[in-house]
Amino acid sequence: MAATVLWATPVRGQPRLIRTRLRLIRHTSTSQKTWDWAGRSTTGDVARDEVAQLAASPRRPLTLADLLKHGRPPLSKDALLASANFTLSLLPARLASRIQALRNLPFIVVSNPHVSKIYENYRHSLSTLLPYQQRRITTLEEENKFGDVLADLVQTHTNTIPILARGFLECRKYVSPADVTRFLDTHLRARIGTRLIAEQHLALHFASQPVSDEPPNRSKPRSPEDAVPSNYIGVIDTAIQPARIIRLCEDFVGEICELKYGVRPRLVIGGEPEASFAHVPVHVEYIITELLKNAFRATIESGNEREPIEVTIAAAPDVPGKEPPVEGDADIGFQLDANDEAYPSEAMGASNPSSQSITIRIRDRGGGIPPEVLPHIWSYSFTTFSDVDFNSDNGNLDALNTISSSGGHLSSIAGLGYGLPLSRAYAEYFGGSIAVQSLWGWGTDVYLTLKGVGKVD
Ligand code: ADP
Ligand code: MG
Repeated sequence: MAATVLWATPVRGQPRLIRTRLRLIRHTSTSQKTWDWAGRSTTGDVARDEVAQLAASPRRPLTLADLLKHGRPPLSKDALLASANFTLSLLPARLASRIQALRNLPFIVVSNPHVSKIYENYRHSLSTLLPYQQRRITTLEEENKFGDVLADLVQTHTNTIPILARGFLECRKYVSPADVTRFLDTHLRARIGTRLIAEQHLALHFASQPVSDEPPNRSKPRSPEDAVPSNYIGVIDTAIQPARIIRLCEDFVGEICELKYGVRPRLVIGGEPEASFAHVPVHVEYIITELLKNAFRATIESGNEREPIEVTIAAAPDVPGKEPPVEGDADIGFQLDANDEAYPSEAMGASNPSSQSITIRIRDRGGGIPPEVLPHIWSYSFTTFSDVDFNSDNGNLDALNTISSSGGHLSSIAGLGYGLPLSRAYAEYFGGSIAVQSLWGWGTDVYLTLKGVGKVD
């Protein structure tokens, strides 16, 4: 079955940044249990020690340069096969490491149906990749089939965040918030990389396909329906203008505010609105949307909706900075995989001479963050939001119900408490950062630094 699927588009109702054709594949993995949590009854596709072996294999952090190295689509046959094999060299170890981490959770957590669903998804995805790992992909036909497998992988894991969030909320009596945050932070950071690797090859794959059944002619123009903007290399926009994304996100968040509060604050952009760099638009959109939701909500709830949110954009050539610290696992209640990509040490900034960082300051007059709230803002699930429409017994479980099925993106103004920590995970993935400076009684400044690639040929 062929269907046009819009994916990785977190801003609902916005022009889609990536349009492509995915072949949707039904799979029946969840009904074919080959081994259980305790590792019993190993009958099938991925043996337990194979997972352990794969998870232990060395991994290095992903860079934007890795994703750009196969060139601009449409790719030649050799470049397409190289991209497929590169993808194949990265994914199995990463999936295996997630399976290991899920297995290491306390039993009461892994028995939760939502958490175990995610575990099954990972196990299924690994089992679909392993047949390809035994040998290299050497023909376009194999690459085509591999494309189907990747499309299935991306589709299978689309709703991981709301499902895991629900699972952990249901288990919150048994696990401390600090432990949940540690697990989710590592897991969701690793997931960013896994999805990016799969989506990048898929995007190159589709952008390199002939439109019809005619013999491949790489220089043939594609139909307008399938056209990929020329500044895209896979899922990376090589000329992304943060100011433009800010305006798109402002529209989206403004609409939510009008629905919820009946007002929409103003937003002014200063600094260098024309600044551009190469980055992953869906990541930038996610972060900006979450930061604007926080700023708009605070501004309105403090009664200051007449005060504009001031956004200042500053572009600076990158200065190689200190690597972010890798936090120790010593004090947590369950084991994390030391090989996880929690803080990629080989971020773009230090390794690529043409890298560029853009810092965006979002300044609101929303009264700031109360000192007693401040220590919790980076915890997954921490929120000061409660909606009278929500059933208070369920607390922020209800916020989950507002997540759209397409991108796992929240359409409510707040409530899940994932906005700041997940935004920071996205920003740090390629060596950026988010810093929050609250002026209690007045407002909040958020400094978002994103590191991208300066010039891409
Ligand atoms: P959520 O928005 O779902 O509550 P976040 O992680 O985005 O989750 O934010 C956590 C908390 O941090 C918010 O509930 C709010 O109390 C506080 N916060 C974040 N940004 C701001 C801001 N700009 N002004 C005031 N408080 C903020
Ligand atoms: Mg928020």
